[in-house]
Amino acid sequence: MKQLKERILSDGKCFAGGILKVDNFINHQMDPVLMREMAKELVNRFSNHQISKVLTIESSGIAPAIMVGDYLDVPVLFAKKSTPSTMENMLVTEVFSFTKNKSYTVCVSGDYLSPNDRILFVDDFLANGNAAKGVIDLVKQAGATLEGMGFLIEKGFQRGGDELRSKGIHIESLAIIESLDNCVIKFR
Ligand code: 5GP
Repeated sequence: MKQLKERILSDGKCFAGGILKVDNFINHQMDPVLMREMAKELVNRFSNHQISKVLTIESSGIAPAIMVGDYLDVPVLFAKKSTPSTMENMLVTEVFSFTKNKSYTVCVSGDYLSPNDRILFVDDFLANGNAAKGVIDLVKQAGATLEGMGFLIEKGFQRGGDELRSKGIHIESLAIIESLDNCVIKFR
């Protein structure tokens, strides 16, 4: 998506270890106008799917997910990184965090993720696909159907995209980064 790529080039910052910082418009300060356009584009790309719910993981996926849910007019569910004592019918999985270099548990209530649901997962980044794999597990535990996974930015030099596509999952990424070598941002 042209607008997003231009914004990444103007405002994205590259950090050691292949990390792209987009704090100026996605991950800290957020640009709602761009976010709305990105959500619209994701909705277009999944227009041949019947989606009953958008699923994301807190916290950075929530902003794009709620905008996608607004366009689709469906509920938005976010997996929580803490396990609230009051959560009923809890489904839990483990996710390894690329940016924090440690594993954490995420959970959703089976009251909100159920066999009738047709899920679109939305997140800010796709890197090694660990968050996505956790979501696949939650969807499976719930007996729901995964319709697809949409990302704002995919780091094509990490393995997540290839792995998920090889499982036959419909994956869409609005900007795919080919390399961040020497802190030069190159798109695929
Ligand atoms: P994965 O689970 O695919 O390995 O990593 C995706 C998650 O890690 C995303 O939810 C995102 O929050 C975080 N992440 C991975 N790489 C980057 C990056 O380069 N920049 C930022 N800001 N977050 C990243």
